[in-house]
Amino acid sequence: MKSLKTRSGELKFPVFLPDGTRGIVRSVDSADLKECGIEAIVVNTLHLTTKPGLSTVNGAGGIHGFMNFKRPVISDSGGFQVYSLITESKAGTIHKDGFTYRLENEKEKSTLTPEKCIQYQFKIGADIIYCLDYCTHPSAPDEVQEESVDLTVKWAKRCKKEYENQLKIRKIKDEDRPLIFGVVQGGNSKELRKKCAEGLLEIGFDGYGFGGWPIDDEGKLLDMVGYVAELIGPGYPKHALGIGKPENLVRAYLAGYEIFDCVIPTRDARHKRLYTFRDYEGIITKDDLSGDLYKYIYMQDEIHIKDFGPIEQGCDCHTCRNHSRSYLHHLFRINDTLANRLATIHNLRFYTRLIDKIREIDEQG
Ligand SMILES: [Zn+2]
Repeated sequence: MKSLKTRSGELKFPVFLPDGTRGIVRSVDSADLKECGIEAIVVNTLHLTTKPGLSTVNGAGGIHGFMNFKRPVISDSGGFQVYSLITESKAGTIHKDGFTYRLENEKEKSTLTPEKCIQYQFKIGADIIYCLDYCTHPSAPDEVQEESVDLTVKWAKRCKKEYENQLKIRKIKDEDRPLIFGVVQGGNSKELRKKCAEGLLEIGFDGYGFGGWPIDDEGKLLDMVGYVAELIGPGYPKHALGIGKPENLVRAYLAGYEIFDCVIPTRDARHKRLYTFRDYEGIITKDDLSGDLYKYIYMQDEIHIKDFGPIEQGCDCHTCRNHSRSYLHHLFRINDTLANRLATIHNLRFYTRLIDKIREIDEQG
C-alpha cells in the first residue's frame, strides 16, 4: 500500500512513528516533531489511563488537543504493558475476559477487558486504535501460545463489537471514524500465526500488526515477520510493532510492512548515541538499504571536545544546522536537559531521512 487515509490526514507509506508513550515523545514537543518531519506518533493507552487520566485527555479535546499534535496518532491496546507487568512482577493474571493487574503504587486491582480497551481508546481520540491482544514470548510453551491465539481472536471479536457500539453511541460518521487494527500473535509457530491471521481477517479490520517478538537473540529480524505479512496480503496496511533499528526497519519494509514505531532513536539519543549515514552525500540504492547503512556517534567521547562541525554533514535538522558536536558534548557533560532535546531531534530526523530515502527508491521502482 502507498498510503492510508485517517481522519487526521493521510499517512504516506512507509512511515516511522516515534513512541509518545505518556503523551510526550520524550524531550521534544510537537513543534520539534513537525520540524523533524514526523508525520504520526504512537501513544500508550494504559499509561494515559493512569496519568493524566482519561477525563483530562478527553477534556483537552483528546490526545491531539492535549499534546497540540494535529497529525495522525495511533494508540496501542495497553495489552503489552499489562503483559509485561504480569510476567515481570507477577502483579496480575490473564483470563478469558482480559487482564487483571495492579499497577505500582496502586492499592486497587484493575481489569483490562476488550470492551474497556476500546472505550479507553475512544476517549483518547487516536486515529488508529488497536484490539486487545495477548502477547507471548517465543520461548513460552505450546499451550501458552495456543491460548494466546485463542484469546487474541476472541478478544478481537469483542473489540470489533464494542468498536461498532461506540461508533453508534457517539454518532460518528464513517469518514470520521478511527481505524481499528488487529494484532497477529502465535509466537514461532507458523500454524498458530496462520490461525490467528485467518481469524482476524474473518472478523475484518482496517489493518494488522505483527505481535510478539520480531527479532532473534542476535537482533536479526525473524522470518516469521515476513510470513505474517504474506498471510495478511497486500490489501491491508501492516504495522511492524516495535521495529526497530534502521536495518530491521528496512528488512521489515522489504518483507511487506509499511508502519513502524520504536523507542530506539529517542532512547539512544538520551544515552548519547547518535546516528549518521555512512554515505550521506551519495545516493542510496536498494542494495545499500540491506547493507551497512549507518554508524553510531558517541557524544561522550573526548574526540568531540573541540569538534566544531555538526553531528552529521548534510543533515538538515535543527541541531546540525545550529550547533556543533563540541557544544552537544559539553551539554551532556554538564547534564543540561537541552542535550536530550538536541540529540533527540537529530536522531528523529535521521529516521525520517531514512524513510525519505526508502520512498525515493520506491518511486524509482
Ligand atoms: Zn542532524
